[in-house]
Amino acid sequence: MNVLISGGAGFIGSHLCDALIEGGHSVTCLDNCLTGSEKNIAHLVSHPRFRFVRHDVTEPYEGPGLDDLGAVFHLASPASPVGYRTYSIETMLVNSVGTMKMLEIATAAKARFLITSTSEVYGDPLVHPQTEEYWGNVNPIGLRSCYDESKRFAEAAVMEWIRKHGVDARIVRIFNTYGPRNQLDDGRVVPNFITQALRGEPLTIYGDGSQTRSFAYVSDLVAGLQAVMFGDGLQGEVFNLGNPGEFTILEFARLVIELSGSSSTLDYRALLFADDPARRRPDITKVNTRLGWEPKIPLREGLVKTIAWYREQLAG
Ligand code: UDP
Repeated sequence: MNVLISGGAGFIGSHLCDALIEGGHSVTCLDNCLTGSEKNIAHLVSHPRFRFVRHDVTEPYEGPGLDDLGAVFHLASPASPVGYRTYSIETMLVNSVGTMKMLEIATAAKARFLITSTSEVYGDPLVHPQTEEYWGNVNPIGLRSCYDESKRFAEAAVMEWIRKHGVDARIVRIFNTYGPRNQLDDGRVVPNFITQALRGEPLTIYGDGSQTRSFAYVSDLVAGLQAVMFGDGLQGEVFNLGNPGEFTILEFARLVIELSGSSSTLDYRALLFADDPARRRPDITKVNTRLGWEPKIPLREGLVKTIAWYREQLAG
């Protein structure tokens, strides 16, 4: 199938490109490399079924890759809290204008469409674990709202394109994901802790470290994205994708120190964002029941692979 993917040079996007090429698809990757990097797809650029186009998807796209288009994955967006604070306007534009432009492409081509939304649409959740039915608890004017609210708008746009134009679209809400190619300096907890541990620096705990997160390894996430995209009868369906194993940030810090053989200490700091969600864990009953998907890589196993990758990056 011919597949168009926005944000294909990003962390998750580049792994998705790998999997799609491996699966025999022809892939056109659009990315303006604002937070993604051509390094992530450098190994693919000479592949006969892969094409990279540097493009900002908030602008109209009329370039190559639109013929016989079967599927459009829309991943483009800064995704780390530090990244979307730095690029707050760009984040709102790509999730609003960019989403509508990608929906137009899918509609014109009669292609399937999948958007990667986020667990952030649940905000600081009052329902735990989070099911797809939960409407969320989002501060509309807080420091995270440029991301949370623009992703919520993106979901609304997808639903309107389904109602008005009949596009075969689905929504995935991604929970915290980690693995190789997550930029060393993107500010998220996994790259921060691993690079700090490997350098022997103190791990920066924001707040008291009692907040929880659930971490999915990137290969599991990519398998889930394909299951949702290529599953039939899923128009308008919303799926959580993530690993339900829930850890406090303190537990996570200690695990990173142990697995990287580090003697780093802990450095408690003020929370970066007042609206930092206190807990987060996906309920994945729906995707498991409907599509048989579940994560396969336990945190320890995924972290060992991830730490090895960061070790190589720091050595190189
Ligand atoms: N965090 C931390 N130290 C860091 C980076 C993050 O304690 O160096 C915490 C952060 O406050 C949050 C959690 O780890 O509670 C996950 O943060 P991340 O930026 O990875 O993404 P989020 O899940 O908040 O979108």
